[in-house]
Amino acid sequence: MRTDVTRELLLGLGRELTWPAVQLGAFTIAPGDPKAWGGAVMRSTPADRVAWLLQLHAELLSSTEGAVCRLASAPEDFADVEPLVLGDLEALPIVTAAVALLPPQVRSHVVRETAFACVGYSSVAWSASAQLVGVGGTRKTGMIMLGPEADVPSVLHEIAHRWTSPIPTEVSQCISVAGELGLRRLAEAEGWDDQFENHFDRAELVADALALCWLYSTPVGAPA
Ligand SMILES: [Zn+2]
Repeated sequence: MRTDVTRELLLGLGRELTWPAVQLGAFTIAPGDPKAWGGAVMRSTPADRVAWLLQLHAELLSSTEGAVCRLASAPEDFADVEPLVLGDLEALPIVTAAVALLPPQVRSHVVRETAFACVGYSSVAWSASAQLVGVGGTRKTGMIMLGPEADVPSVLHEIAHRWTSPIPTEVSQCISVAGELGLRRLAEAEGWDDQFENHFDRAELVADALALCWLYSTPVGAPA
């Protein structure tokens, strides 16, 4: 994923979050003013855009129903649990580095609920039990699959998808490639394919934005 905060990303977030108020140095943009947002985005420097994005972090963290529930049910103690990483060892430092950048509530959620599986670094393929169980016997409800090109920003992007995903129920399941294809065909046949694509575009926008917030929340990550 791109790691610069683009004008396009900020304008997309403005639309998505219905143009929230922003403070840019001594200059304030009032809420609900797309024209002021647009003008200021065009004049912004890369460093301005990072500062701007970080002001949207709290709203992005609670931008879906699943995320709101996770925030509300976050444990009070954020005792660190090691992430469950399966497959190729080379991915372990990448996952560990990404998890270390997360806000405590997100870190606690992802290490408890998600398994990371890695293939393509030192192995071409591998097989294992699909019963994904972490320390203490807790069954994982989500999985992030990493290929050899995965880096810290892309791991953060996938973690953002887990954070904003619906709360799993007893009947939740992973959608197969055949299932997704079938759904797309049905959407086209019934004329709601725009709605379908918009849902994915929105999810990608929010995942990119959250990943960049976490990447740039540390001083070393910010551009000059
Ligand atoms: Zn994505």
